[in-house]
Amino acid sequence: MSSLPPSQPQLTTEIQRWRDDWIARDGEERLLRVRWLWNAEEAALQNVCVREQGGTVLDIRPCSNSELTNVLPVVLIPPLVNAHTHLEFSALPEPFEPALPFQSWIQSLIKWRGSNGSTAAESIRGGLAESIDSGVGLIGEISTNDDMALLSNQQFPNQRTSCVAFRELIGLSSARVQQQLELAERFLTAPPVAGVHRALSPHAPYTVHPDLLEQTVALAGKHHIPVAMHLAETTDELELLESGTGRFQTFLSSMGLFDPKQFPGGRCILDLLKVLSSASKVLAVHGNYFTDEDLTFLAHHQNITTVYCPRTHHFFGHTPHPFRKLLSAGCRVVLGTDSRASNPDLSIWRELQHVVRLAPDLSPGQLLAMITTHAAEAMQCETAKFRIRKHQPFSPVFLLTGNSGDKLPELIRNPQTIPWRPSFDQTSYILPPHQEFSGRSNEE
Ligand SMILES: [Zn+2]
Repeated sequence: MSSLPPSQPQLTTEIQRWRDDWIARDGEERLLRVRWLWNAEEAALQNVCVREQGGTVLDIRPCSNSELTNVLPVVLIPPLVNAHTHLEFSALPEPFEPALPFQSWIQSLIKWRGSNGSTAAESIRGGLAESIDSGVGLIGEISTNDDMALLSNQQFPNQRTSCVAFRELIGLSSARVQQQLELAERFLTAPPVAGVHRALSPHAPYTVHPDLLEQTVALAGKHHIPVAMHLAETTDELELLESGTGRFQTFLSSMGLFDPKQFPGGRCILDLLKVLSSASKVLAVHGNYFTDEDLTFLAHHQNITTVYCPRTHHFFGHTPHPFRKLLSAGCRVVLGTDSRASNPDLSIWRELQHVVRLAPDLSPGQLLAMITTHAAEAMQCETAKFRIRKHQPFSPVFLLTGNSGDKLPELIRNPQTIPWRPSFDQTSYILPPHQEFSGRSNEE
């Protein structure tokens, strides 16, 4: 069991006292008074009283003068959404090095997966637990495993965290394309698992045959499910599409997977976006090298959301991410952690803090949407759970802060601000790890 930061002893006592009282009054009408209530796409409210009963918000009102002495020094937020991760790598203590060239990093990943296959279940469970502890209520998971029981919310009965499991599809040869499509169909028609929404992920332009992409999108349309694809992640990927040459050509050749007929050149990311756009919802993961033409297309295709993975982007030292241009063009951008193979932890909150440092002009309401409502919508999930509203289910997450008297933007920026999801089963006060991250980037 870990404890609250030692610099905040007062906070520990107050929150523990609140938690004990909250548990003791289970089923009764309960009041929670907080310094801030912060919802996506809205101005944050200061000194607010939330009345709750049986897990539903009865009403939200400003605190009266007499209540002000009894306000918890926290920011109340809804559960968070991590739109992109690979939980199978959650057991990694630190990201793979070297990060570059990208193909060497992929080799490390393949090698690690090969020698740690037996611990994959443990790794996925660990990643889920870490996500829950850091306030996440919905995860966009890329699954290479068909055992959806691993992602079921039955494992954590007091936490209603759900997953959208995007089954990863990889195939360059015709035989493999057919086999992957059969696998996808089996995956989508398997019996339901509590807390798991099934979806598909054609992996990336350099691992997916154009026919596999087209037919995956058609299958997603038939089952009305979202699709996620890694896209415009590196300049090597663009070169492979454009001319069939470069590091990916060498990489695929070294594994006997390169067929010049599949990479004849003359293609670009926009061609893939056009194919993807027929799916009901699309997550374009990364988009580090989207061009202005791509942006124009995305602005006209609101069913495609870009998933920016800020600390992973930083880790690989890419040129500045076009998220500001995307937002200005009216496109949706949401955030993901990617995996522990390129990130020190699975805290979506830390991703948001990274974005705040790069774009301090974004409003708190815009920012929170990137890790709550917009991210849920991008994955075709209900958004009600990710907004604290009257008559809606109440699943509180607190931002613990050093000084809740500060203005909200300052609290958001402060590295001491940590999300904490109260567990009401009287077992733990586990907090997410507090780690500083060093990486390489051309953007700061
Ligand atoms: Zn990824």
